[in-house]
Amino acid sequence: MNYEAVIGLEVHVELSTKTKAFCGCTTQYGGKPNSHVCPVCLGLPGALPRVNLEVVNKAIKTGLALNCSINRFNRFDRKNYFYPDAPKSYQITQNDFPICYDGYIEVTTAEGEKKKIGLERIHMEEDAGKQLHSSKGTLVDFNRSGVPLIEIVSKPDIRTPEEATQYLTKLRSILLSLGVSDVKMEEGSLRCDGNISIREKGATEYGVKSEIKNMNSFKALEKALRYEFDRQVAALENGEKLTVETRRWDESAEKTVVMRSKEMANDYRYFPEGDLVSLNISEEWIEGIRASIRELPHEKEERFVREYGIPAYDAMVLTLTEDMADFFDETAKISGDAKGASNWLMGDISRLMNEKGTWISELQFTPKDLSDLLGLIREGTISTAIAKKVVEFMFAEGKNPKVIVEEKGLVQNNDEDFILSEVKKVLDAHPNVVEDYRNGKTKIMGFAVGQTMKATKGKANPAIINKLVKEELDRRI
Ligand SMILES: [Zn+2]
Repeated sequence: MNYEAVIGLEVHVELSTKTKAFCGCTTQYGGKPNSHVCPVCLGLPGALPRVNLEVVNKAIKTGLALNCSINRFNRFDRKNYFYPDAPKSYQITQNDFPICYDGYIEVTTAEGEKKKIGLERIHMEEDAGKQLHSSKGTLVDFNRSGVPLIEIVSKPDIRTPEEATQYLTKLRSILLSLGVSDVKMEEGSLRCDGNISIREKGATEYGVKSEIKNMNSFKALEKALRYEFDRQVAALENGEKLTVETRRWDESAEKTVVMRSKEMANDYRYFPEGDLVSLNISEEWIEGIRASIRELPHEKEERFVREYGIPAYDAMVLTLTEDMADFFDETAKISGDAKGASNWLMGDISRLMNEKGTWISELQFTPKDLSDLLGLIREGTISTAIAKKVVEFMFAEGKNPKVIVEEKGLVQNNDEDFILSEVKKVLDAHPNVVEDYRNGKTKIMGFAVGQTMKATKGKANPAIINKLVKEELDRRI
């Protein structure tokens, strides 16, 4: 039978606010255990929470960027559960009135078509504490307790692990660009759980789903979903019955393992949070936030293709980070040479950045400098080979390429008389070249070109050398 996956993702995002969601404690990562705490986030009796409006603003901003509607009436709820990491024995979250609903993220299917992955809801909630297990017992650190989160819940519209990865990649780049979170999966500020079931292709009913936890990297997400799809297909093919389960991705074993089976939906007994006022969000409030949203990465990506005519692949790579996108945008504008700008940024400059562990924001040269480099190549002042050297100097010294070319004497030599005299010297010194050429071994030309290049210390225009070597050889045979 031909099966398809039905996947929905739940993404927890830690918002980058200075203080926690319902108290004034710092949200700083790390710190001595239990040093970023107060009676509110420790759940001490009598302590009263207060909403941090920055959390609400960032949640609204995220919702608007993800094409959501905003709930004008917002209420917080208590999700009751007993666990050592929850000192109040409940988590403050939103159940009935999530702040955002009905949005979407666009992905491209394997067939190359645009597809909207629906967003069910985004709600605000607080993080729990962290348990530290050791041989002596278990300790709890409440520094994370009360740190603001939003949970972004997709509709079960995802059909392949690749679509899931695209969805998360796009979501991550939008969140980063909005400045609402630092979205570091390794520090837990972006966490992803998923639901997956399978069904016969074309069927409308849903199969039995399993929930997958601990997919803490993009690679893990794709691998876990693929594993789970194969596992469920194999089970059905073998006539086994699937049950609703929560499974965990085991990175080292590269498989999902059962954490618990559940026969029915969670019963957390949600209650309205009586210690917090409900929020009425005005139109002006929403519009004020909407006005603060700048061009998003995917909008930039589309504009780069439209405005500069660069390939879609280049536009995708260049908009992976905002700094890179801005650097390209400016260079393309100043130089009028978008393809050149894209080639250098994606090629030599990215390579050097990787080698030296430099971020684009730390580059010592500007888009104007890169634009000048493109100009020098275009005018034939330097060859591409020399430009590669110039870029290395730009990296190390941060000087304008014109200054570097001047100082290091890297100007390309286009003087045909001079170059011809060098070619002649090379051919005189290597009589076998003419001999080989006469015998039809034209590959030997490459040797002559290389020797001339060497003799002119790489400064002679390679196109001219090529031309003159050929002419001089033809003359001598
Ligand atoms: Zn606190």
